Formats: sequence, C-alpha cells, structure tokens
Amino acid sequence: MSEPLLHIEDLHVEVEGREILKGLNLTLHVGDIHAIMGPNGSGKSTLAYVLTGRPGYEVTRGTVSYKGENILDLAPDERAQRGVFLAFQYPTEVPGVSIVNFLRTAYNAIHADEQKSAMQFRMYLQEKVDLLEIPHELIDRYVNQGFSGGEKKRAEILQMAVLKPELAIMDETDSGLDIDALKHVSAGVNKLAGPDVGILLITHYQRLLNYIRPNRVHVLMGGRIVKSGGFELAEQLEAEGYAGVAKEIGLSEAEAREVEAVEAR
Ligand code: ADP
Ligand code: MG
Repeated sequence: MSEPLLHIEDLHVEVEGREILKGLNLTLHVGDIHAIMGPNGSGKSTLAYVLTGRPGYEVTRGTVSYKGENILDLAPDERAQRGVFLAFQYPTEVPGVSIVNFLRTAYNAIHADEQKSAMQFRMYLQEKVDLLEIPHELIDRYVNQGFSGGEKKRAEILQMAVLKPELAIMDETDSGLDIDALKHVSAGVNKLAGPDVGILLITHYQRLLNYIRPNRVHVLMGGRIVKSGGFELAEQLEAEGYAGVAKEIGLSEAEAREVEAVEAR
C-alpha cells in the first residue's frame, strides 16, 4: 500500500499541564474519509488543533507524520502550505475583512508560486461559489460577522474549496446546523471529497455520517482510539451511547463514569 497521508503513533498531548490525548494511533490514506467520534471533552478538538499547530497543545510523546514528514516541528502556516486544513468547530468573526479578501489573502499565502490578482481571484472564487451553491452576497460580507450557524459552516467549506487541501480536518462541521443546512454543508463536502484528499470528519453524532459516508469510523475515548470499524460502529454508538461502548471495550469504571457524566450534561 502507498505511504499514508497521515500517520499518528502513540500521540500524547497535554493542555495546561493535563494529559488529554494518551497514546492515540491513527492512519489515513489519501482518498479516505475517516470519522472520529467521541463524547464531549474526549479530545477531538485537541487532536484537530495539535495537527494544525495551535499553540498551547504540547506533544509530550509520539509522532505525527504527514506525507512522510514530521509536521510537529512546523509552524501552522507551513503546515497549511503543505495542504493541511482545519474547518473550525467555532469559526471566529473577523470584523472589517470581507470573505473575498480574507480568502484571497489565505490563498496567496499558501500558493507562493501561483498568486492571483483581485480580479483573477474573484473569477476563481465564483467557480467555487457556484459549485457549492452558496449565495453570492456572502462573499462580500465580513468574515462570519452576523452569520447564522449554517452560514459560518458554509463559509468554512468555501474556504476548503478555495485552498484545496490534501488533508482536511472538519471539526464538528455538523454542530448547530438544522437539517437543511446540514444537507447543504454535507453536499459541499461530498463535492470536495475525492481521490486527491483525505478527510478527517470529527463528530459527536452519527447523523452527519448519514450524509457524508466515511470508509472508517473510530471512537475516541479516554484519550485513545478505543475502537475502529465501519459505518455499523456509528450506528452502534447511536443506539447504545458512548457509555455502552465504554463498558464494552472495558474502560475502567472511573473512565466510563466520566464519559457518562459528560454525556448527561
Ligand atoms: P472535544 O472536542 O472532544 O469536546 P476538547 O479537545 O475540546 O474535546 O477538550 C478535551 C479536554 O481538554 C477538555 O477537558 C477541555 O476542557 C480540555 N481543554 C481543551 N482545550 C483547552 C484549553 N485551551 N485550555 C484548557 N483546557 C482545555
Ligand atoms: Mg470539540
């Protein structure tokens, strides 16, 4: 088999002195769509942040290789230049900066040898807006300011379309979406999926996976991937909840109770 796009081995990560990831292993090949499901607070966003280089997330052990290269020593912008992209769980507002200018700056920053003028970029962006069926007015609005939950996530997908990542990490792209927005956003992701990109779909709920079919599902609990399988694993989670799976895989009493407590909140 070809070299993996992403290969994570025994990853341990601390946040503010507390160990959140405790020996996580994961291998993803280009063209794959893997779902990572886990209860709230299990470290899903921590994984997304550590892969993209957000400060404050300290790797204390383990390795992350992306296309055969150790990316942990690279700055966030260097990772982005190599094709790593994160769609945020909570996209931030950037008052005073329009989507079109924001995206052009981002595009030019990671395509040093393929700069686009304002005019060229508008044409390029229009193609993506048409492809994703996004209302055209959105691109002249300030980034995420006054956006609905659905509009924010649409803007994240538009950013993905523009930047053309090789590894796209989507952190709870389904959270806060009503069913129409969920369908729209999922359709966008499906249009961008393909043999040239690997997608890590982070989600708490199975419902997203009814629209974006992963070829593998992983359960993140207690800081590790505790179970992997096909779509049926997502269905099992939906039926039994995380606490059920925690018992089945033999998490310690304390760890299982923690899962139950967080889920009950
Ligand atoms: P998930 O995305 O699965 O809900 P997170 O990765 O956001 O989980 O959080 C995992 C744990 O790490 C939680 O207990 C959370 O409180 C803690 N954590 C994450 N980021 C920070 C941070 N910046 N400061 C302090 N604690 C954090
Ligand atoms: Mg999260």
